[in-house]
Amino acid sequence: MFKHLSAVPGDPLLALIIAHRNDPNPKKIDLGVGVYKDDNGNTPVLNSVKKAEAILLQQEDSKSYLGINGAPEFATVIQELLLGKESTIIQDKRIFSAQTPGGTGALKVAADFIGANLPNPRIWVSDPTWGNHLPIFRSAGLNIETYPYYDPETNGIRFDDMIATLKAQAKAGDTILLHACCHNPTGVDLSFSQWEAITTLVKEKGMLPLVDAAYQGFGDGLDEDMAGLRHMASIIPNMLICNSFSKNFGIYRERCGGLSIIAETSEEASNAYSIIGLAIRANYSMPPAHGAAVVYTIMNDPDLKAEWTDEVSSMRNRINTLRSKLVEKLASTDVKKDFSFIRAQRGMFSYSGLTLEQVRTLRSEYSIYIADTGRMNIAGITDENIDYLCDAIATVVG
Ligand code: PLP
Repeated sequence: MFKHLSAVPGDPLLALIIAHRNDPNPKKIDLGVGVYKDDNGNTPVLNSVKKAEAILLQQEDSKSYLGINGAPEFATVIQELLLGKESTIIQDKRIFSAQTPGGTGALKVAADFIGANLPNPRIWVSDPTWGNHLPIFRSAGLNIETYPYYDPETNGIRFDDMIATLKAQAKAGDTILLHACCHNPTGVDLSFSQWEAITTLVKEKGMLPLVDAAYQGFGDGLDEDMAGLRHMASIIPNMLICNSFSKNFGIYRERCGGLSIIAETSEEASNAYSIIGLAIRANYSMPPAHGAAVVYTIMNDPDLKAEWTDEVSSMRNRINTLRSKLVEKLASTDVKKDFSFIRAQRGMFSYSGLTLEQVRTLRSEYSIYIADTGRMNIAGITDENIDYLCDAIATVVG
């Protein structure tokens, strides 16, 4: 039955994790994996999460199915985090949200919804984008186009090219995928004025924005990181938002996220949301409960919410402090390259500007594991390994 099948290459990032795990060098550094790490190299369970879990252990009285869209009260948590408590979109009931298995589950359902319900479905994604976006959209039958985004010359955004490409080639009804903040893999985010310009273009063209919010709170703040998305939602009547709680609650393996749909009227949103239910039913039937129960418990207890907000701030501050330290330490070596652009990037990831050859040498000679694209997970740096890392980069870059 399966004789005709040959193995496909595994995900290169997962292979990198395994290579790091098997490396006996005590100085090895893992900057490949996409999870937050503290200064001891651990991915801890947040205190607010531990406390919420203790409450749930006492209170949980059933493990019956949740329903296709998850716990109804959880929708408010998703919406208020994304749009802010005072949002008129929430008050006008123009947004409906489903609890999903992670941000990935939300993206898959959104892709299926677009694929089955929009004519000639086509989606524009940034070049580059998160590696899993492409297989998810492909599997839903969407035609994928890329718009220019990262500029390796300036380590910034090819914004004029991005706008020119979309102006020339995007059509009414096309979907455009935007990263709300902390762009994965580059770390280079749109400025607010760039969000304004894209919003104007999306409106002129009649496109549908699909915003991926996987790192809320990891850039400049929980509200600050949503400023672009909120502006766009205030101008564009229709929008899909896929969000993940994996990173900002540190509940990666619980698989918790949300898919929200905004439409011009409450009735239109409600109709479309009922169709989203069909895509959910055909994918995984109903979402897992635990992660969302934890998030809900935290967000509805003022003390736990305050503690969680502080914990998100400390993760964010650690990453942003590491960016500055890395830039300063690299500048203090005699390395010829200017790495100061790393300070302006946001989120866990950084396109470091290291070439494939430099990345491979760092791996083979120093046991420093960075993705082939040069993407580094800044959170993998610690006070203990930063000098070793900077000296190795300086030697390899020259
Ligand atoms: N979107 C982006 C841009 C991501 O980087 C990730 C995770 O790495 C996700 C979505 C999916 O997150 P989750 O683990 O919640 O499925």
